Amino acid sequence: MNRRQFLGLAPVLFAGCSRPVPPAPRADRIAREKHLAMLDAYRVPAGSMRTTPKPDVDPLARFPELKPLARITVRLHPRFGDEPRTDESKLGGAFHWPVAEPWPQCPEHRLPMVAVLQVRTDDLPPQFPMRPKTDLFQLFWSPRATKAGPPHVVGVWRARDGDEPIANPEIPESADLGYVPVACRIFPERSTELPPLELMPESMRRTVAESQDLELPARGVKFGGWPRVPDRAPKCATCVHPMDYLLSVDSCEWTAVDATRWKPMEDADVEGYRRAAGFDFGAPGAAIQVHVCRRCEAWPLRAAVVS
Ligand SMILES: [Zn+2]
Repeated sequence: MNRRQFLGLAPVLFAGCSRPVPPAPRADRIAREKHLAMLDAYRVPAGSMRTTPKPDVDPLARFPELKPLARITVRLHPRFGDEPRTDESKLGGAFHWPVAEPWPQCPEHRLPMVAVLQVRTDDLPPQFPMRPKTDLFQLFWSPRATKAGPPHVVGVWRARDGDEPIANPEIPESADLGYVPVACRIFPERSTELPPLELMPESMRRTVAESQDLELPARGVKFGGWPRVPDRAPKCATCVHPMDYLLSVDSCEWTAVDATRWKPMEDADVEGYRRAAGFDFGAPGAAIQVHVCRRCEAWPLRAAVVS
């Protein structure tokens, strides 16, 4: 029997076989298993620090007129290690969730959303606006990309009260693991940053553009400050007013191009530190930027994928 004849018979042969054919392993599962096996060599203990190196050129020294545009961001530096408690700041893992509240659901996929980022007020930029009487921010998103591209995002602002917390739901089988972070501790570091050129007033843009050696907003997972990639002034879906930049979840903390600027001094240039959470948003170096509307009662969020 030649190969073609055999293949012609194959359905008949296999039809008689009662053993189910196992599904092909999914690329996201294979990538996650490899990532987890590698991560163990890059555990970072609680109490460690991460320090961004000083820039070769301080943009505020060169252009003091930019000072009014400076904002404090907190670079969160997620790193793998023992999972923090459910009420601590963390990326991924189990979140503080009271028993009486329904878990956020993705409106498109009808699946439980993924717990992405939980930050306590003391790890946020100073005087960061929170909803009244809250001290914990939680970010959730869809377990995979949506028809329109970026995942749906939900922000929860809560107080860490005495509520009995419950176990978080399982990650759905159909989740794209590129959107599900490996549980990481965060190592917050405050840093001053300036807007990307496109968000600067016209009068300053040209002068600053001539200094090509300036890195203005930071890369990596960060809270507050400026978006690294200018968004087309996202508008609130409810009230249509422009939204405020809130945070970025970056799939990597530095790249080959910008490692000298954004790789913390304590880290070797390895995947285990550069992209500890194991995110994959479909393009190398892609990040999800989140904006908030503080005019609407619910403080709705909006996400965009940028690279
Ligand atoms: Zn609004």
